[in-house]
Amino acid sequence: MTPADTSTWPRPHSTPPRATPARAAPPLIELRKVRREFPAGDEVVVALKDVSLTIESGEMVAIVGASGSGKSTLMNVLGCLDRPTSGAYRVFGRDTRSMAPDDLAALRREHFGFIFQRYHLLSDLTAAGNVETPAIYLGREPAQRRADAKKILARLGLKDRAGHTPNQLSGGQQQRVSIARALINGGEVILADEPTGALDTTTGEEVMRILRQLNSEGRTIIIVTHDAQVADHADRIIELRDGEVVADNRKPGARMPTGNLMPRPEGKMARSGESWRDRFTEAFRMAIRAMRAHKLRTFLTMLGIIIGIAAVVSVVALGEGSRKQVLSNISALGTNTIDVRPGTGFGDRRASATRTLTVADADAIAGQSYVDSVTPTANTNATLRRGNVEAQATVNGVGDQFFRVRGMKLEAGSLLSADSISSISQEIVIDPNTRSTLFPGGENPIGEVILVGKMPARIVGVASSTSTFGGADQLNVYAPYTSVMRRLLGQDYLRSVTVRVKDDASMDAAQAGIVALLTSRHGSQDFYLNNSNEIRDSIEQTTGTMTLLIASIAIISLIVGGIGVMNIMLVSVTERVKEIGVRMAVGARQADIMQQFLIEAVLVCMIGGALGVALALSFGVIFPLFGSAFQLDFSISSIVLAFLCSTLIGITFGFLPARSASKLDPIEALARE
Ligand code: ADP
Ligand code: MG
Repeated sequence: MTPADTSTWPRPHSTPPRATPARAAPPLIELRKVRREFPAGDEVVVALKDVSLTIESGEMVAIVGASGSGKSTLMNVLGCLDRPTSGAYRVFGRDTRSMAPDDLAALRREHFGFIFQRYHLLSDLTAAGNVETPAIYLGREPAQRRADAKKILARLGLKDRAGHTPNQLSGGQQQRVSIARALINGGEVILADEPTGALDTTTGEEVMRILRQLNSEGRTIIIVTHDAQVADHADRIIELRDGEVVADNRKPGARMPTGNLMPRPEGKMARSGESWRDRFTEAFRMAIRAMRAHKLRTFLTMLGIIIGIAAVVSVVALGEGSRKQVLSNISALGTNTIDVRPGTGFGDRRASATRTLTVADADAIAGQSYVDSVTPTANTNATLRRGNVEAQATVNGVGDQFFRVRGMKLEAGSLLSADSISSISQEIVIDPNTRSTLFPGGENPIGEVILVGKMPARIVGVASSTSTFGGADQLNVYAPYTSVMRRLLGQDYLRSVTVRVKDDASMDAAQAGIVALLTSRHGSQDFYLNNSNEIRDSIEQTTGTMTLLIASIAIISLIVGGIGVMNIMLVSVTERVKEIGVRMAVGARQADIMQQFLIEAVLVCMIGGALGVALALSFGVIFPLFGSAFQLDFSISSIVLAFLCSTLIGITFGFLPARSASKLDPIEALARE
């Protein structure tokens, strides 16, 4: 590599001019009795013992000393990565003691550039991506920072390596990338901790030449090294021993630092809203990259959310589907029918002893203006026999208008006539179930005689109900109510009267009319009315309760999924502590770190939610293929709700890990292997 022509390197930087006193500028760096202690078990290790020194702008300083003498600790304090236990550190005349973590981060990204022994590049990013990172946190325009990164990399001889990831680069190339990263925000003060420590002599020399060059442009360079040859490049050598400065020598003949600040050319900065959006986009990209780097783990984490969301969405759809099914059955019964039954209401035990509802009542109701049709009913169960075939069936004792009241369809033969009712005939109409049970060979049932209990009866027709309400495989036969009452039950009162109200008449008025009519006929109200709307209401309520119950179980599975996400995010934070440390060193705010992990958690949950919805929708396609009686009815609102729910889970369960990431101490994070 040829020493780069550094005169054309971009020095992109722009911050408000700092307060410069009219007289002499304060020293760039000023340490007063800086002490740094580390707790080690019960004891305290003193890494820096009351170090006082000043470094002027434009100096090239080497800090030397044996291993463990406190060089790195001093470097970390200088770079605002760490704080002194006591003593004062002033940089650009500003006291760092009172600064919040985010203020220190601002100092780092605006003024400092770090070069580490082990490069500390982010392995998921390309060389250019690594170089750009500090500029993202500084808030420079994407186009501008991309161009800058390219230019700096090109000047460092890495033009054709910009798209390579760190593991595709040699040690020397990686260190040059990290130098480029230190320069992207201006690199006013470059702090290099053993920059050549991991490099061979030749590459190490190259790196030192670059640093020299940078110094000649006016940048302040501080190098930590234990190598005398490396230290020889510096104009001033500070020697540490056991946390104390034992020597501080300027090289003879070295040019004195001017104390002048490096020129700070203007660079294009994004406006603050744009900068925020840009950082958000970058955090979003990072999250996607992290997810892609751990595909299997990400998928397994999502699985909990996928199953949870799929369960919730399909349970709600199932509840909605069966509700609609039941309701359509009920409306097939007719939404304008009223049942009149003896007794005081559902569950009246003495209802069977109430014998006041009679055929005459039914006839009286039939005479009302609001009535379309009326059918008395007297139901019982009986055994059907034909030859050696026997089957249990519900015998519906009905009037001739029954089939109209119930909206039934004639399939063969004829229905019961008014004549057959009044003549107490032994004629019956059967339903398709009964036909297939008694006539398994497919013979024509019309005109055949079978036994209904002990009563022989001739089949005159086959009629089907559009409603499967009450069980799809139940057998139903329909006989004149007169025959059922006299011949089967031996009673002369009715079990119920079903009234179909005219389409244009009001149900409420009809109910009131029937109550008034029968009360006057009976002398008291010993009957109750039941309309199909009420039945529908009670069924809706029941299915609603069931859906709620199953949905709450599904929601528990969703919460379990959320806990899984939290767990994996905590692991992910632990795994990426080093990355977090690097980001903090180059100036990421706590909010930036928090955002990155939160986005990842939310993204995992949202994608999981979308896949869960897709899975539920595919159930809706697959279920009917297997002839399932279940019907799934998806509503947009339940899908949107599920999606919002998974987002909320991401935020809720991602918060804790994200916060723990943002609260990490940069030094500890960087030291973690
Ligand atoms: P050098 O970089 O010169 O090798 P360091 O600055 O890393 O030395 O360490 C100086 C002293 O402080 C050493 O004795 C080291 O063990 C101690 N030390 C450094 N960091 C920590 C820490 N985080 N916790 C405890 N002791 C530490
Ligand atoms: Mg060290």
